[in-house]
Formats: sequence, C-alpha cells, structure tokens
Amino acid sequence: MRLWTLGSGSRGNAVLVESGGSRVLIDAGFTPRVLARRLAALEIPCESIEAVIITHEHQDHVLGACAAAARWGWALYATQGTAAAHPPLADAGARTFAAGATIELRAMTVQSVPTPHDAAEPVALVVTGRESGTRAGIAYDLGHASAAVRAALGDLALLVLEANHDEGMLRAGPYPPSVRERIAGSHGHLSNRAAAALAADCAHRGLAHVVLAHLSESCNDPALATSTVRSALARTAFRGQVAAASQRTPAGPFIAGSGPAQLTLPL
Ligand SMILES: [Zn+2]
Ligand SMILES: [Zn+2]
Repeated sequence: MRLWTLGSGSRGNAVLVESGGSRVLIDAGFTPRVLARRLAALEIPCESIEAVIITHEHQDHVLGACAAAARWGWALYATQGTAAAHPPLADAGARTFAAGATIELRAMTVQSVPTPHDAAEPVALVVTGRESGTRAGIAYDLGHASAAVRAALGDLALLVLEANHDEGMLRAGPYPPSVRERIAGSHGHLSNRAAAALAADCAHRGLAHVVLAHLSESCNDPALATSTVRSALARTAFRGQVAAASQRTPAGPFIAGSGPAQLTLPL
C-alpha cells in the first residue's frame, strides 16, 4: 500500500491511497486543474483513480470533487449528511452512506468513522487493502479524539493525522476570539498536543508512517508539529517516520512497511 498527500491545509486537502492496483482519493479540495497538475507530478493518470470519498462538505475538502469525478469518471461517495449539505454532490450522482458504514471498492474496503467536527456528518476513513489486509487511516478536521476514532485507528501501517495548531500560537495568532474558540473547540481542529496523544495511543511496531496534516499556516510550524508528535511517539513501540504534509506540494509515497518516504520536489 502506498499513500500520497496531494496537499493538506485550510486551502485544500486530497490524499491518494493505492493498493492492489487500485487507487482511491480521499477528498478533492482543489480545483480539477490543480489536482491534475499534482497527479501529473507523481506520474499518476487522473483516469486511473477509481473513486473519491469526501470526508465532509467544507470547501477545502469538496471544492473540485464533482467536476473532477465527472471529468475523469471517478465514483463519488459522501455521507448522506455531507451530500445534503452540499447539493452539487447529489446532482453529480454521489453515492451516499451513513457515517460508520463501510464502502467496498475493487481492491480496498473503506471504513468510515463519525468525527466530532462542525459539519453535517463528517467522517474519518480507514482504507484496508483487500488482499494484503494493510490499513491506512485518514483522520483530520476533528475537535477531539473520540472513543470511536481512537478505536478505529488501531493496527494501522499508515496514519494521516491532523495536527492543526500549536495551542500557544493559536492564542497569540491573528484570529478573532470567535474563530479561535471554534478552532480549539471540541468540534474544531486537533492541536499538536492532541495529535501527539492520539498518535501515541495508536502507535505500534507496524506503524510505518505518521503524516501530519491540515497544519495551520499562521498558528503552526511543521518542525514544531513533527517534534511534538515525535517526542510522544518516542515513549511507544513506534519505529516509523513522522512527516508533515504540505499545503502546496505533494508528499510521498509513504509506503506501508518501509523506511523514509521519498519526498517529491516542490512544484
Ligand atoms: Zn478542513
Ligand atoms: Zn472542516
């Protein structure tokens, strides 16, 4: 199993997972033009993607999904709540599921898990290779690590985990108090400290890569986020790598059971 982040942050998210000769995109929060450019940089044809699964209706996750799915023949999936909150999904023929349901793709199954976030019916996703049994978890846009999320992220080989903000930088940052409270709230976004605790909870020897995602550009720093999570993981059986996804450039492939990822060059 291999995984790339095409980009992650408040200006767009997309995560590509490949297993058993099949590819699924988690979120498409970039325009089709940007998606095409970033996939081309990875030498991955757009048409080779089987499906796109949307975690929730916020623009940084859904922006290009309908147009890209129509253009390249991707099956489009979203929860019923997400589809209701973003009507273009229904118009584009999205297949809907309930948060907690499992989606069967050609070579992968994708388990959805309800997340605490200020959206209609948001989910985290766990992709399992049908033949290999290898598991990748994608959990971002969550205000806290609920018991359901914690339980679902066990026994992963690859973990994409939100590390949105440093709590001190958020307090001192540029946002008005209402926005700050929303971000730090129980249905907002995970701090570095919360991400570190959750990563440590799901750490085990088989976890090859923890990829920190959705980093705030004004209230976080990739070096600070990775060092916070690394120091929590140092007290566990984890022997893998920690990296931070970039907003502007693809990163990966992160390969299950492998050493350092080969990071792609900035575009
Ligand atoms: Zn988001
Ligand atoms: Zn969101």
